[in-house]
Amino acid sequence: MVPDSPFLKPLTDEQLAFFETFPKAELHCHLLGTISKETFLDLVRESGAPVTEEEVNEFYTRGEKPVGVLRIFRALEAHILKDPVMLTRITIEHCERARSHGVLYTELFWNWTGLKHFYGFEAGQAAIIEGLKIAEERFGIKGRLIPAIDREAPPEDAVELVEEMIAHRAPETIGLGIDYRETLHEPENFWKAFRLAKEAGFGITIHAGEFGEHFRNVETAVELCGADRIDHGYTITDAPELMAEYAKRGIIFSVVPTNSYYLRTFTDEEWAERHPTRAMAKAGLRIYPNSDDPTMHHVTVAESWRLMYQFLDFSIADLRAMIEASIDAAWTTEEEKAAWRAAWLPEFDRQAKACGLA
Ligand SMILES: [Zn+2]
Repeated sequence: MVPDSPFLKPLTDEQLAFFETFPKAELHCHLLGTISKETFLDLVRESGAPVTEEEVNEFYTRGEKPVGVLRIFRALEAHILKDPVMLTRITIEHCERARSHGVLYTELFWNWTGLKHFYGFEAGQAAIIEGLKIAEERFGIKGRLIPAIDREAPPEDAVELVEEMIAHRAPETIGLGIDYRETLHEPENFWKAFRLAKEAGFGITIHAGEFGEHFRNVETAVELCGADRIDHGYTITDAPELMAEYAKRGIIFSVVPTNSYYLRTFTDEEWAERHPTRAMAKAGLRIYPNSDDPTMHHVTVAESWRLMYQFLDFSIADLRAMIEASIDAAWTTEEEKAAWRAAWLPEFDRQAKACGLA
């Protein structure tokens, strides 16, 4: 990406490797956005879905400007992911890859609403948890699950999703998210599902302020829908007072440097200079980078961290603070977070020093 940018900080091979190896958490990643092309082709064959190899090739081709991935997800939901065992497979494969990029803990979004014509929530959830258990045992990565509301579906489907989460409660399922297109699908439409989840003790994270949508969606997510953290949230930069308020309250934003909206609407130069994460951090908001849909956006979580340093002008000390933000934002026990801080931060310092970045 933008190899000749004036914003680029050059890195040695050793320094490039550092971004792959320092310990990190990823809390903003969608399971369907992690499928490799090879596996996608296998799944199409296994399901007998009416999707051609040309279409799959097209899904995985990244042009000059990236296109959205939602069409691919709809094909997976409508025709391909027929058997819960397919969810086990993609979970294991994603966790193995994430671990190879330094991820020790991940929270994964998955949508059931678009899959319910194939199987019940309980079967889908069990299949993914099986994958998480296998991955933890084999690769030493811990994974947790966040069912996500399909905001293009009726709000009643979101309530149904939360009722299923409660009826089939699993310790690995820790929160409720919301994804698909934000435009014309505001967070307040789903207040009932969020309230139900909150009352049942689930964490709440909400995609808001993406696709250039109004900053009030971020405010609504936090103030009305009870979001504990925000996915993206970029348009909060249009509201300096709200930024100051959320900086004061320590609300954490799970950002994505390769978010397709800004790659599409900005030139490469503008992207590096004007990506909203810069203004968010400057206003004191706590942020940390994520891959979102790694295979479909042709990015790894390690690259997301590297882009923050290499192009978006964050320092090594800034990245260290982002690791702390990701730990604080994780939905786990205070004991486990303390253990991660004690282990990950000195290891980050050690590796940064060893490669000459600190
Ligand atoms: Zn996302």
